[in-house]
Amino acid sequence: MPAPDGWVAQRYLTAGGGPDYTCPRCHRTVPRRTQHVVAWRTDEDDSHRHWHANCWTAAVREGIDRYRFA
Ligand SMILES: [Zn+2]
Repeated sequence: MPAPDGWVAQRYLTAGGGPDYTCPRCHRTVPRRTQHVVAWRTDEDDSHRHWHANCWTAAVREGIDRYRFA
């Protein structure tokens, strides 16, 4: 996945059970059993978030820092 400097983004699919995620950009559900994107800042181990793939792509285009604390 494309990612800005200082970020890592990977395609991700969760096999196990548990709660779904909330996308930082659109605030809608990211079902954990569908392929989506998990991304984090390389300097913040606990900053990872789960994104819809389309939302991640758009957020990178728009400037990821505006969503950093969403
Ligand atoms: Zn989204």
